[in-house]
Amino acid sequence: MPQASYADSHRLSIEQPEVFWAEQAQRIVWQQPFSRVLDFSQPPFARWFVDGTTNLCFNAVDRHLLQRPDQPALVYISTETGQETSYSYRQLHAEVNRCAAVLRAQGVGKGERVIIYMPMIAEAIFAMLACARLGAIHSVVFGGFASHSLASRIDDARPKVLFTADAGMRGGKAIHYKPLVDEALKLAQHPPQSVIIVDRGIDQNLQRVPGRDLDYATLREQHLQASVDVEWVESSHPSYILYTSGTTGKPKGVQRDTGGYAVALATSMQYIYGGQAGDCMFTTSDIGWVVGHSYIVYGPLLAGMTSIIYEGTPVRPDAAIWWKIVEQYQVRVMFSSPTAIRVLKKQDPACLMRHDVSSLKSLYLAGEPLDEPTARWISDALRVDVIDNYWQTETGWPILSAQPGIEPLPKKFGSPGKPVYGFNVKLLHEASGEPVADEEKGVLVIKPPLPPGCLSTVWGDDARFVKTYFSNFHQQVYSSFDWARRDADGYYFILGRADDVINVAGHRLGTREIEEALSSHAGVAEVAVVGVADELKGQVVAAFVVAKDAASVADATGRQALEKALMATVDQQLGAIARPAKIHFVALLPKTRSGKLLRRSIQALAEGRDPGDLTTLDDPGALEQVRQALLNPAG
Ligand code: ATP
Ligand code: MG
Repeated sequence: MPQASYADSHRLSIEQPEVFWAEQAQRIVWQQPFSRVLDFSQPPFARWFVDGTTNLCFNAVDRHLLQRPDQPALVYISTETGQETSYSYRQLHAEVNRCAAVLRAQGVGKGERVIIYMPMIAEAIFAMLACARLGAIHSVVFGGFASHSLASRIDDARPKVLFTADAGMRGGKAIHYKPLVDEALKLAQHPPQSVIIVDRGIDQNLQRVPGRDLDYATLREQHLQASVDVEWVESSHPSYILYTSGTTGKPKGVQRDTGGYAVALATSMQYIYGGQAGDCMFTTSDIGWVVGHSYIVYGPLLAGMTSIIYEGTPVRPDAAIWWKIVEQYQVRVMFSSPTAIRVLKKQDPACLMRHDVSSLKSLYLAGEPLDEPTARWISDALRVDVIDNYWQTETGWPILSAQPGIEPLPKKFGSPGKPVYGFNVKLLHEASGEPVADEEKGVLVIKPPLPPGCLSTVWGDDARFVKTYFSNFHQQVYSSFDWARRDADGYYFILGRADDVINVAGHRLGTREIEEALSSHAGVAEVAVVGVADELKGQVVAAFVVAKDAASVADATGRQALEKALMATVDQQLGAIARPAKIHFVALLPKTRSGKLLRRSIQALAEGRDPGDLTTLDDPGALEQVRQALLNPAG
């Protein structure tokens, strides 16, 4: 089937999903073929590749042993410890077998859950793949979370084993994991029987609870020659649980299937990310997030690529470190986030010039809105194609993106492009539920069935799945809770979250639009806009700005000058109605651990309320900044 054009292939994927996906399914190895491509007899639940049996680990690792046994599969780089280790597919296979044997000896089998609470080290990936090999379900908990978040995820999963390390490192500082684990296990109602610890030798006072806590190196030694059979599982067997960022509320436990996910990722590697076997991919996310699951671990390995797992920050030892890695490993595809690029933007521009990054074909950015100045800045500096892609933990892979592997369409900065094949995207009017016209704002929804790779349900809570995602718009569609508009050429623009709308005297304004306007000013590094309750107008706009040059807002005169200039910028771009009532200058904005703005907490503080659930907050100092700025509003 020739994919003639983007329009044709997208149309085929929507009108004849069975035909489209049956062909894509050939990208992975099935032990037993599927009898049906899709079972949508119980909407909104979709089952893909019914009766087909497969295994994620086999497809990511074993399958490559014949063709590329000595090619690096994984390169582990830590600028925190100075360690740099490469694992060929053959070595990765051996390590995964050892780890699977260790887990199996602890009673982990098909359907059993394993919590992986790990820093960015290779063993974290061995453990994920080992779970997949055994048909066990992993729940990776971001290593930066503290005991409470860990405990709630333990209770949700009821794991057999918790896999962890003595410590992680960030910015040169050790973060001891074990005391956090101990505390979490005290808080949890359903603690695991055993805790397996990778001792990196960072925590000199590592305490072990006899009978419960086990040393990974010792267990691994016992299974050096292990060969663990692959557990073939039915396509919809859960591969993992992963929680959303919790930007808007209580994190939801996304449950992913096996076969649909493998097919979706393998397809995305060709059509979206352009990853060929043998190429090197560098995804700077963390394995605790969906981008890490899909594009540090499973996607590149399914494609037979080399994947880099990086422990460290983008600015240590200096802001050239990522480009040094690109040069050294001839990275071809890179995946990062707008937040990280904005961090680099505040650094010495010379760092971007120091290395030869000509191997790099494209830089993919996702996770939050990519403002045009940031996109242009990095694209010009590196001379690479910058591709914004829009998706959610729930979908597991992009909903909107350029799809250069199908047809390289012209790019528009500020837009993540067009709907990805398989996603039947609509924009609906919030009140009427009717499709909106071009250029009008609507809620982005997906007409089910959701394509392969998307969440099958909320772990342990089918009712929450239906209620959360399918209860708006007469139960007919999956709601993304994001605003978007589409232009006459069919490009989409994300305008922010549906609960981030400000209503000023009856005018509905997206926080994102105002943020875009403010960040187009050269003096602005980052900005957050929230609506604050106002007796007269319903809501007024408050903006929190991180200046590019801290010295420019060090005194009242500087702040007033920049504030005035920013007000004028908003007036000019959006009109006076969108003008912030107040602009506050801060050094840092409150974000989730995954780098997303915590607008709900900023808004709560601005309205004198409790900032709410802060378990996902990255740096408490940032909330303090907001608090201080609100206390001293004078210029
Ligand atoms: P929660 O659902 O728990 O509140 P969250 O939505 O932040 O948390 P994620 O699944 O990590 O959890 O984030 C997905 C959201 O991130 C999207 O719904 C969208 O709001 C935003 N997002 C992701 N990529 C982009 C992008 N390219 N452009 C604009 N927004 C994006
Ligand atoms: Mg969300």
